[in-house]
Amino acid sequence: MNNTPESATTVTIPTPLRRIGIYCASNDGARPAYVEAARRVGTLLATRGLAVVYGGGRTGLMGAVADAAMAAGGEVIGVMPHGLVQREVAHTGLTALHIVDSMHERKAMMAEMADAFMVLPGGIGTLEEFFETWTWAQLGVHRKPIGLLDVEGFWSPLQQLFDRIEQEGFLRGTPRRWLQVSEDPVQLLQALSTFDAPVVRRWLRLGET
Ligand code: AMP
Repeated sequence: MNNTPESATTVTIPTPLRRIGIYCASNDGARPAYVEAARRVGTLLATRGLAVVYGGGRTGLMGAVADAAMAAGGEVIGVMPHGLVQREVAHTGLTALHIVDSMHERKAMMAEMADAFMVLPGGIGTLEEFFETWTWAQLGVHRKPIGLLDVEGFWSPLQQLFDRIEQEGFLRGTPRRWLQVSEDPVQLLQALSTFDAPVVRRWLRLGET
């Protein structure tokens, strides 16, 4: 990572994607479309030979992604703080389950292992993970793309909020360019695979977050 100013240029990430970090709900949500989309994502990643890195639970959309990926012969890596193992019902049928000490360690490990992120519908846990990963891109901690899977317009209000934040001058420069948005998992994966990372100054390293 160099210290080139963010306006200078863009470069293509040279390495192909190997592992996709998934942030999503620990419950099913109100519409069948959410679980269906989660299963599609799991199957898609497995059939493309991409590993899933996620929170390690077996409930909700988290479990649906993991089960579908495992059923399609994929690799699934869970990362869960030990305090949540009972509460979130850890998935015992994964390729690997890393038990870590804290929520922060979980997020740092997931962010380090994944080459790109997909955010499926979810609640405040999902939002927290998404925003932290996005702000880490803004701070130059990583250069990995983030995709919002817009199942039945779930993320549209958030997009409108980002428009408003941008219009009001609070979101400037490159941050929105890290975000890819699609309702179609295949298109979203394609966008993540071809992402040109903006060059941003590295303000922090992962250990400093
Ligand atoms: P939710 O979207 O609320 O169903 O949560 C989805 C996942 O986000 C769960 O695995 C939570 O453990 C996780 N998560 C990550 N960071 C947090 C946090 N600070 N507070 C609550 N949940 C979190």
